[in-house]
Amino acid sequence: MKGKTMAWPLLVIAALLVTVSLLPGSCADQILPVEEKTMEEAREAMVRLLIAYGVRDEKVIAAMRKVKRHNFLPAGYFSRDAYGDHPLPIGHDQTISQPYIVAYMTERIAPRPGEKVLEIGTGSGYQAAVLAELGADVYSIEIVPELASHSIEALAREGYKCTVKCGDGYQGWPEHAPFSMIIVTCAPEELPEKLVEQLADGGRMILPLGAYSQRLVILRKKGERFITEDDLPVRFVPMIKGTK
Ligand code: SAH
Repeated sequence: MKGKTMAWPLLVIAALLVTVSLLPGSCADQILPVEEKTMEEAREAMVRLLIAYGVRDEKVIAAMRKVKRHNFLPAGYFSRDAYGDHPLPIGHDQTISQPYIVAYMTERIAPRPGEKVLEIGTGSGYQAAVLAELGADVYSIEIVPELASHSIEALAREGYKCTVKCGDGYQGWPEHAPFSMIIVTCAPEELPEKLVEQLADGGRMILPLGAYSQRLVILRKKGERFITEDDLPVRFVPMIKGTK
């Protein structure tokens, strides 16, 4: 009996809170814009940091300013630190790459509007969105089914038209080859042959290469010749060997 008497005031307070939160202009109405504003400020701070680190390409900077990184974090992985310059967990032992690396790799391949780009390792969909923001025609392959579905949904929700499939990136996407650019966001131990084959003449590929000690490698295809350039030391998740 005593328990029941105690519960009534709590129920009344709860009912009042629900009613108030449904009123137009109430606190609940304000929470979302305030959160969005915080995220916008955080994104701006991230962009200032990228510029301080040496990102120069105006179009890449504009894309980094526009794409909402926090909206690419899967449910349950939201972070108030979504714009910190570090990788963040997205589940399945995978991460969304550090913003500086996303900007740096994008700047190094510099896709022009309409160019066909293949990404290996869609993950959250964030890198694909940055490429799409630059006007690239993006194809992306993700090996973890849940992440493939998540990225398809997040890209569509944020208004980006990218073609994503679940599959093994080592196979590339022969139906859509050749690609002007290939960007690999997980690290194979050796150069994946099929990806090199699917690169257009005059095309470029950027990938982290190596097992423990990795470096970014940029490969340019000129006719039968390949020119490779060793770049920054990096740390990416390994490129999983598929079953095919
Ligand atoms: N570009 C992503 C970063 C994801 S991390 C982003 O912006 O969020 C690397 C991703 O590569 C992981 O999601 C991982 O599942 C995926 N991956 C690993 N091996 C792969 C393979 N063989 N084929 C396709 N994707 C692979």
